[in-house]
Amino acid sequence: MRMNRLRLNGFKSFVDPTDLMILEGLTGVVGPNGCGKSNLLEALRWVMGETRPSAMRGSGMEDVIFNGSGSRSARHFAEVSLILDNSDRLAPAGFNDNDTIEVIRRITRDAGSAYKANGKDVRARDVQMLFADASTGAHSPALVRQGQISELINAKPRARRVILEEAAGISGLYARRHEAELR
Ligand code: ATP
Ligand code: MG
Repeated sequence: MRMNRLRLNGFKSFVDPTDLMILEGLTGVVGPNGCGKSNLLEALRWVMGETRPSAMRGSGMEDVIFNGSGSRSARHFAEVSLILDNSDRLAPAGFNDNDTIEVIRRITRDAGSAYKANGKDVRARDVQMLFADASTGAHSPALVRQGQISELINAKPRARRVILEEAAGISGLYARRHEAELR
């Protein structure tokens, strides 16, 4: 499953609709301090179902909504869309009807987050599973936060095991077992 495109609208500093093509090979994002490089990576993690505001460097999830600047007023919602190539049809049931999957997460002030996949309402859990099965997702070791390497070096063995399980692609299975045990 390949990521093809990331679209942001009202997310953090990206007040105007912004479209980022993710081409094959390496994509580099360069720019001066504060231009929004880390915000882009956070948008990616957010649309994949991140639930912790702290991972977005905020105190509440609504902090991801553009909060105004000198000449621009604050927005009422933020939306991020991620377009995936599903031509190998490896996505789980419910996501597997098309060659592409568009996952959209939208947050509205006072109304929280809502997710859609190819136009249909889905739960946060479904989106998190979709990415967990593809060995990626909001907690994927493929997404390395600024400062995370030094945190990793100092991590306890248990925390390191979680990272290895993500990398091995079995964390989706654990999550499903946990759900099954709760039923
Ligand atoms: P560095 O090179 O220092 O790591 P960066 O390119 O990673 O910088 P970011 O941390 O992505 O920069 O962007 C920070 C900018 O985003 C700041 O100017 C901050 O004011 C702005 N920002 C963060 N949240 C919001 C928000 N909700 N509304 C508007 N602007 C925001
Ligand atoms: Mg940064």
